[in-house]
Amino acid sequence: MHICKKKCTFAAQNEFYAMNKVLLISTGGTITMVRDKVSGAFVPADMETFKAYLPELFEGEVKVDIEAFHPLFDSSDIGPEKWAQMAQMVFDRYEEYDGFVILHGTDTMSYSASALSFMLEGLNKPVVFTGSQLPVGVLRSDAKENLLTAIEIAAAKDEDGNAIVPEVTIFFEDRLFRANRTTKRNAEHFSAFNSYNYPALAKAGVHITYQPHLIHYSDPQKPLTLHTAYDPNVAVLKLFPGIRQPVVRAVLRTKGLKAVVLETFGAGNAPSDKWLYRELKAAVDRGIIIVNKTQCNTGSVEMGLYAVSLNLMKAGVLSGYDITTEALLTKMMYLLGEHGDDTATVKRLLMTDLCGEVTIA
Ligand code: ASP
Repeated sequence: MHICKKKCTFAAQNEFYAMNKVLLISTGGTITMVRDKVSGAFVPADMETFKAYLPELFEGEVKVDIEAFHPLFDSSDIGPEKWAQMAQMVFDRYEEYDGFVILHGTDTMSYSASALSFMLEGLNKPVVFTGSQLPVGVLRSDAKENLLTAIEIAAAKDEDGNAIVPEVTIFFEDRLFRANRTTKRNAEHFSAFNSYNYPALAKAGVHITYQPHLIHYSDPQKPLTLHTAYDPNVAVLKLFPGIRQPVVRAVLRTKGLKAVVLETFGAGNAPSDKWLYRELKAAVDRGIIIVNKTQCNTGSVEMGLYAVSLNLMKAGVLSGYDITTEALLTKMMYLLGEHGDDTATVKRLLMTDLCGEVTIA
């Protein structure tokens, strides 16, 4: 792949970066698909066919190696076990490569990418997720542009040889976002993702313009630590006007349940029914962690702003501030996996910004 060094803008005037080695990990998704000649349906292409659509990948200054999952997956079939496999692959090849690009279906990309941001503690190299809305085998596909730019970002370094964006990100269409701030927002448009509560880390046009003051840097003295333990005993409970007690009770009394994302209205509000308070309080007393996450995409939970959120506070529900559901859910699985039954530690870390996923007011 040929990349013009003049076309990367770092810190507004600094226009230098080195070209390096990137490992491309393919998990599947639309980006890897071509049309089956017999059925006409989109099916995952084998890696040789995929590479034939993108000869530019292997022609230039970035050395790109590929590793693919077998079989390739639609991202609806990707969950904690495969998050751990992806994180393990990055960890195992960490010293060999300057950056990593993960090809992934868009549907659950924000979950996987959020999970990896927690599993790869102390990351000092780029891990860029990308995919496409149209398969690589379609003429008008967004695959080539997304992938080539993701590779450029994964390889980008400053004049001191440090990665420009050493965190887990999603690149899509023309924006680079912190992964654990993203949500898939559109099932049709090329601009499939957004980061509602945190600005883009870079914008790609004729130049790639990075925003260094927004990027998360881990302590370079600390080694990368891999965390692959997870506990999926979590749930999302979305409140709605008219929700009935048996529904809430069924979720909160789920066997083995340890933590709940409570999706509330506006600034973190909920109906003031006494039964709701009693169910939540009883769950908290049983040791279940409940975190308040607003159903709004933009903005933060502010418990106590309205009288209708006071009951939640009294019941022991925690604030999720401006975190996404994807980040909160994966953070819960990760913390429960790491700290098991140490509820106090899990609660404390849920209320801590670990890698830029939340703005604690
Ligand atoms: N269903 C596909 C997936 O998430 C959609 C996509 O890749 O955009 O794997």
